[in-house]
Amino acid sequence: MSIDSQKFETQAVRTQVEKTQFMEHSVPMYLTSGFVFEGSEEMRAAFAEEKERNLYSRFSNPNTTEFVDKICALEGAEDGYAFATGMAAVFSTFAALLNAGDHIVSARSVFGSTHSLFTKYFPKWNIETSYFAVNEVEKVERLIQPNTKIIYAESPTNPGVDVLDLELLGAIAKKHGILLVIDNCFATPYLQNPIQFGADLVIHSATKLIDGQGRVLGGVTVGKKELIREIYLFARNTGPALSPFNAWVLSKSLETLPVRADRHCDNALKLAEFLEAHPKVNWVKYPFLKSHPQYEVAKKQMRLGGNIVAFEVAGGVAGGKTFFDSIKMCSLSANLGDTRTIVTHPASTTHSKLAVEDKLAVGITDGMVRCSVGLEHIDDIIADISQALEQI
Ligand SMILES: *Cc1c(COP(=O)(O)O)cnc(C)c1O
Repeated sequence: MSIDSQKFETQAVRTQVEKTQFMEHSVPMYLTSGFVFEGSEEMRAAFAEEKERNLYSRFSNPNTTEFVDKICALEGAEDGYAFATGMAAVFSTFAALLNAGDHIVSARSVFGSTHSLFTKYFPKWNIETSYFAVNEVEKVERLIQPNTKIIYAESPTNPGVDVLDLELLGAIAKKHGILLVIDNCFATPYLQNPIQFGADLVIHSATKLIDGQGRVLGGVTVGKKELIREIYLFARNTGPALSPFNAWVLSKSLETLPVRADRHCDNALKLAEFLEAHPKVNWVKYPFLKSHPQYEVAKKQMRLGGNIVAFEVAGGVAGGKTFFDSIKMCSLSANLGDTRTIVTHPASTTHSKLAVEDKLAVGITDGMVRCSVGLEHIDDIIADISQALEQI
């Protein structure tokens, strides 16, 4: 059986550094900044890239290569590069591929720091961004200009869990010869593979469900070989590389991604159904609830609905404050994708830098809660959230 025909779960477990010195069953950590050479000719050939080998861990390291190889196998990508954080991956991808004067078309609803890149930093280099609403993907074409280089989106979005039609975005990008870059963080490679729908590059914050246990930061960009080459050259000169230690942790984490994700998604759907029937909850959004505005699209492009549930508690600001202060077991934290269930208030934390009208445009209201559903027993998760809602 060829490797390519192996199932996702098998590739997640079996993609490894091929041969280690002592044939360790668990790949060791290669905690080294540099690598040595037999002689000057070997060193010259390595620097001239005539021979593929490790030189210096800012360029590559066996642990980061293993991690990248796994993500490539799981996303169906040709090549990739691993970064210290998800934001390093987002920034470096744009910085490597764009020139001054280029234009981005992006979904309005993106991660808070990505929004800051578009609004605060890229304009310094005369790179402007036009936005489309998550429910108006068909309007993307009207925003395309002669200097548009990249169409960018997350799906599901953070924090509103809106779902964008990746197939439609892929077709638009292809028709206009523009790159489609998808931040696939909320779905993980297990739930959705954007390259299948026409994405040229896929970005992950590995900090979230890929680690899945709230331990390390990491990021990765995978996709077309010639684009990754540009990103690699940018990164090898500017230095946002993932540490071998974190790469080792993340490679191990990937082995259990499918089983973890199955339980995360199962718990999340049950919580979403519970919240939908609760009188103290104004609305609930979860991709695999029939009431989700893009339910059909979610079913088409995702294996399961993910682990993030967004909802609005009754009573506005005061209701939100009472809810968060009444939580007993779940963690109040900004992270997501951990084994532990986390509740976050986007309006005052992750998305606090957005202007009020920008928050409302992407559905962030004062009473909105983003819940990253963990791996505790679902009865205990529901019991905690239920008692907190009762206090409102
Ligand atoms: C967290 C997150 C990022 C940034 O990742 P870091 O690892 O925290 O830098 C980017 N995109 C999305 C959708 C995220 O949730």
